[in-house]
Amino acid sequence: MKPITLLPAVQKIAERLAAAGAECYLVGGALRDHFLGKEVNDYDLATSARPEEVMALFPKVIPSGIKHGTVTIMFGKNGYEITTLREDANYNDGRHPERVTFVRNIYTDLARRDFTINAMAYKLPQGELFYPYGGSADLAAGCIRTVGVAEKRFNEDALRILRAARFSAKLNFNIAADTMAAMKKLANLLNLLSKERISHEFCQLITAPHAGRGLLVLQELDIISFLWPELRMLNNWSNVAANIEKLPAILTTRLTYLLSFLPSWPQKMVDSLVLPKAVSKRVFTLWQLLKEKPPQGATYERAFIATYYPFLEEYMELAGLKESQLAKRYLEEPVYRDKDLAIKSSELMELCQIKAGPLLGQLRHFLLQKVWENPLVNKREVLLNMAQKWQEEIANGH
Ligand code: ATP
Ligand code: MG
Repeated sequence: MKPITLLPAVQKIAERLAAAGAECYLVGGALRDHFLGKEVNDYDLATSARPEEVMALFPKVIPSGIKHGTVTIMFGKNGYEITTLREDANYNDGRHPERVTFVRNIYTDLARRDFTINAMAYKLPQGELFYPYGGSADLAAGCIRTVGVAEKRFNEDALRILRAARFSAKLNFNIAADTMAAMKKLANLLNLLSKERISHEFCQLITAPHAGRGLLVLQELDIISFLWPELRMLNNWSNVAANIEKLPAILTTRLTYLLSFLPSWPQKMVDSLVLPKAVSKRVFTLWQLLKEKPPQGATYERAFIATYYPFLEEYMELAGLKESQLAKRYLEEPVYRDKDLAIKSSELMELCQIKAGPLLGQLRHFLLQKVWENPLVNKREVLLNMAQKWQEEIANGH
């Protein structure tokens, strides 16, 4: 393994803790990703020091998740989360440990973690590796396996069922047979979870590099139709899986793609994903656009580009129009939206003696349509002329 290059701040944190007689470890995703040769940006740190001991050792510490033993050590503008080694005892409801007990031993902490590849630790600052559950071998073999008996671990926290699928999508890993069997058996425990937790994992899964793989896992275990019956009618999963990961890893793009196979908008499913309003609205617009025939001919293409300008790249990606005439126009021609008309509203109001209001709106739209038909008319003089004619026709009752 390549030696781990630590940020100076992380190095300082480790040294200060060591000087105080406490242990400090790099754990979780950060260590796993380092092993996989990926760049580590998000350091997961763990320490044998209690949260209040950590707070006493550094000048600025925010008790960000102190209930679970997590505090954030600030270095300038940057914060580093560090969590006290702990044991999670007595899960009664399939989602929350009844109590969190702080411990001093790294092995106890690693035992509570979900998968072997996530249950490794690297002692800082000098470096000594701990992988008591075979994380290193599973990482080399590309395998997701629970720490301990799979059924027991999913019974404790059913979110781990989705996390297994999410990590297979993120890392392109297999899921061990016993882990997979337990996921299948206990999938109905997902009922116990909040919409938010499910959504968080699912959104990460579909934006992962190997999203198709993760979706096939969920599909094989009937989890997709269990969570979202609307998707039951989707029957070309191998096709969906192969194509979804070719799309940019953008949530709106990939979610729209998935939903584009449905004949009606799955409002209930989208509500259950509790997405920010802007995200669900965007997906809805894209979904609707995909249901329509793409615009054809210069005028309609210009009108479409102007009307849906902020959606265009995503739309063309999803509609398979990246090489189309529409795409060429989008890339090469100026856009003609209302604000791009070569005439000010104030000039039109003065010339035609109209006030701001619906009539002015109609006039500007009329002019815009003329420009979509022929962009060469987008000149102040020409537009003024057209406006005058438009007004005469209106006056004549046309
Ligand atoms: P990512 O890079 O995708 O964030 P990660 O492994 O860091 O992956 P997190 O969700 O950030 O995933 O969790 C950090 C660590 O905390 C995990 O590696 C795992 O050891 C532990 N963990 C998180 N959630 C659970 C859970 N539900 N059950 C058991 N351990 C968990
Ligand atoms: Mg993480």
